[in-house]
Amino acid sequence: MAQSIGIRGAGVAGMSLAREILRSSPHCAVHLFDKRPRLPHPQRTFCFFAPAEESLPVQPYKRWENVRFRGQHFDRSIATESTPYALVRGDDFFDSTLGELEERGARFSWECGHADIQGNSIRTGVGVYEFDKAIDASFEVSEARSLLWQSFGGVWIQTETDCFDPSTALLMDLLPSVESCPVAFVYVLPISTREALVEHTTFSSRQMPSEWHLSACHEWIRSHVHGDCTVIAREAGLIPMGLERSVAIENIVIGSAGGAIRASTGYAFLNIQRQARDLARALVEGGGGDVPRIHDGLPSWYATADALFLKALAKAPLKGSLLMGRLLDKAPAQPLIRFLAGDANIVEALRVMSSVPKMMMMRALVSV
Ligand SMILES: Cc1cc2nc3c(=O)[nH]c(=O)nc-3n(C[C@H](O)[C@H](O)[C@H](O)COP(=O)(O)OP(=O)(O)OC[C@H]3O[C@@H](n4cnc5c(N)ncnc54)[C@H](O)[C@@H]3O)c2cc1C
Repeated sequence: MAQSIGIRGAGVAGMSLAREILRSSPHCAVHLFDKRPRLPHPQRTFCFFAPAEESLPVQPYKRWENVRFRGQHFDRSIATESTPYALVRGDDFFDSTLGELEERGARFSWECGHADIQGNSIRTGVGVYEFDKAIDASFEVSEARSLLWQSFGGVWIQTETDCFDPSTALLMDLLPSVESCPVAFVYVLPISTREALVEHTTFSSRQMPSEWHLSACHEWIRSHVHGDCTVIAREAGLIPMGLERSVAIENIVIGSAGGAIRASTGYAFLNIQRQARDLARALVEGGGGDVPRIHDGLPSWYATADALFLKALAKAPLKGSLLMGRLLDKAPAQPLIRFLAGDANIVEALRVMSSVPKMMMMRALVSV
């Protein structure tokens, strides 16, 4: 018999899960609840390292096969043919996924207010809806608690003359650390010789004002881009790094609240796609029975390595740029890329971590 599945939250996780369920079991009745309106879509640009063979929900707008990291004392480029860096435009993902879900008959309750989920029922201001399974795919950043935050603001710019090398993504132009921001960098993703996303990002103990990020972007543009340029769009955001998770969750949770955010990088999009595929398979194969808990998308030792690194940054903020710089400058190239992508094995991860001088890391961890 076809199951009924209720999903609280129609963001990336909720929609990806609904898409996977309806693709493998078209007769399921899927109903999504979200407090936001159907449009506009959340303003997002999703970037991540994706193995070339990874199946993605939408064609990336751009892929880079070279990435570059630089700081005060180093400048390093790494070829990434087997794990290119990809950019998916939020509008492309949301338009195509929403279109497919509506075509496949998913039901939506947009602007439903704060939906409560309990057991297999979802309660909104309008009523209580009962399902065979209710899944929690909701996330509210203002209610989250985290050790550090990835806070960012950026601009899409178009220049009048050729200014960028579109074959290379500059993932970190490291800036000096300050007490409130152990790590600060500018990130430049060129789409063509004349168009790029320039973003200023910090790992900080609190959210930094978006105007401050934007003015840092403009300062970087003034000193690195010659000639006139036009700002065509802006974006800003906040991602928890080291999210504190509730211990008493009764429902199956997927997405940001379900551990999909990689603590040390803030990448979540690809983990969410993997979680959605795993959970949909378990739901469809499990029928109405118990569904095994899905994993976070990463082996648990990743969480330990990430937690150690973030703790060192939080404890010794002024050493942040030095720690990060040593890691990016000295770690072996391909293990570093696989580590950032979340695909390194434990031996590769240890080789990457050991590029940070142990004394520096220990001092950072024990400093008050
Ligand atoms: C600006 C920005 C840029 C990002 N860029 C990247 C990137 O480059 N690469 C990457 O890998 N990750 C990135 N991320 C992180 C992550 O991929 C995204 O946040 C992604 O949207 C997370 O998906 P989600 O479904 O968990 O949360 P969301 O997409 O935020 O969806 C959660 C949904 O739950 C709804 N909701 C919350 N509470 C309730 C409730 N009580 N009742 C009903 N609905 C509720 C919300 O309205 C929301 O629509 C970015 C995040 C932001 C904010």
